[in-house]
Amino acid sequence: MIVFDLQCNNGHVFEGWFEDGHDCEQQMENALIACPICDDTSVSRIPSTFAIKSSQPVSDFSAQKLDPSSVARRIMEYVDKNFDDVGCDFAREALKIHYGASEPRNIKGTSTETEEKTLQQEGIEFFKIPMPKQSDTDA
Ligand SMILES: [Zn+2]
Repeated sequence: MIVFDLQCNNGHVFEGWFEDGHDCEQQMENALIACPICDDTSVSRIPSTFAIKSSQPVSDFSAQKLDPSSVARRIMEYVDKNFDDVGCDFAREALKIHYGASEPRNIKGTSTETEEKTLQQEGIEFFKIPMPKQSDTDA
């Protein structure tokens, strides 16, 4: 499962959970996603600002049938404790780990759309999760 930030034509931002990016594109194309606030089906994806890569399968996240906000909170807690913050070096570090140039570990950070495409082409699995709104961001 992957979570995307979505935005309707009226500017409402909400979260959608999908099998993968393709699933999301398809549902948007077929107008299967409606804004929970105004029911608008003209929905577009907005880039998330946060990505994680785990050295272990992350299937245990999605196996839990919990409401999305609770899952997101749990993931954030888990990520905070177990993931190394590499900031905007996320894509570079993920590639290094993938090719054995860097020690395998859990990392988190930000990536651009171009970097994400590269990671996808290299077959590197990563998750994107929305950053919770915090007043005390220490980035
Ligand atoms: Zn709306």
